[in-house]
Amino acid sequence: MEPDLMLDTDAIRGWTYDLWRAAGSNDEEARITADHLIMANMSGHDSHGLSVVPGYVRSLMSDQLQLNQRISIVTDTGSLVVVDGNRGMGQAAAAQTMTLAIARARAHGVAIVGLKNAHHIGRVGHWAEQAMEEGFASVHFTNVVSRPLVAPHNGAQARLGTNPLTVGLPRRDAPPILLDFATSAIAVGKIRVAYYKKSPAPEGVLLDAQGAPTTDPAVMYEEPLGALLAAAGHKGYALGLVCDLLGAAIFGGDTPLPAHLRKNGMYNNMLVIVFDPGRFGAQDHYERETEAFIDYVRSAKRAPGGADILMPGEAERNYRTARARRLPIDAGTVAFLDETAKTINGARGSKLPPASSTIA
Ligand code: NAD
Repeated sequence: MEPDLMLDTDAIRGWTYDLWRAAGSNDEEARITADHLIMANMSGHDSHGLSVVPGYVRSLMSDQLQLNQRISIVTDTGSLVVVDGNRGMGQAAAAQTMTLAIARARAHGVAIVGLKNAHHIGRVGHWAEQAMEEGFASVHFTNVVSRPLVAPHNGAQARLGTNPLTVGLPRRDAPPILLDFATSAIAVGKIRVAYYKKSPAPEGVLLDAQGAPTTDPAVMYEEPLGALLAAAGHKGYALGLVCDLLGAAIFGGDTPLPAHLRKNGMYNNMLVIVFDPGRFGAQDHYERETEAFIDYVRSAKRAPGGADILMPGEAERNYRTARARRLPIDAGTVAFLDETAKTINGARGSKLPPASSTIA
């Protein structure tokens, strides 16, 4: 297994911005996308950082991803809104959706907003962080409309996406609680990174095409295709199913039925509930109780091995400190990014340097 390359964090963020500018994104879209992707890597989620760029560019070249779109309103009752992402860059569509949802939650106390038909919105926790920066809590149900990857519980064939569930809870003068995970046993991007690195996947997360357990990440990328298992057996499967129904179908979004799939396109729908926790009228109690409960949870005797008891969101913050200046990126991903720069240069006549020029 090759060692990771160390990229200069600011330089690769600038390179990613330049790539999207060269591809045709306006300044705002290129900035939001680059900031989002690099923040995913900085947060330890390499599955949702730079490794998605080659796929996004394939989608752009196949006329799936549409640049410089604005969300458009489909339904608007004030506190309940549905918007269409118009197949636009998911990072821009999600940022616009959250801005709208926060404004409506400020006006009404709570807002429920459905975003449909957006290109891949990346690390969903980023959108909960946008709400928490303004003091709002949020709950997100997201589905994925691309080739199904996750087998239903007791199934041996993929039928669902990796459908993430996300909850952000702000705290006063303390880091927020941020639950943000795929309902599959592992995010498929982590299998993609293992595939690029030519390293085995963890045990207990993959089935081969015959439905037998395997650690070979190639079963997700080479025929005959296998499937990911759901997280926590029937529970993750049921949560993932709810993400398809509540996170998409209920407000007009597609599920990954074969008729809805578009070659090289990877789309998300997201239902987000944004609210001001203060409107329950129990803000002081919430703050006191939360801090006391976190202390109580952390006071539990450690399991053998002595690893720390973490709060949701803490692992990502620890990564951000460690990766502030330099990002470890696997050589396979960097090679794909170099190829992607060539693709954009060929298509747009730009002169992007390779991503490997940002090696620190
Ligand atoms: P993961 O398995 O790493 O779990 C992350 C969550 O678990 C975070 O909330 C983290 O703070 C928490 N956590 C980690 N260690 C912990 C500990 N010891 N104690 C308590 N909490 C802990 O994440 P994942 O399932 O690989 O998902 C990664 C990312 O992929 C997420 O950001 C998700 O939004 C994103 N995703 C996006 C899509 C999409 O289509 N856009 C699809 C799937 C996943």
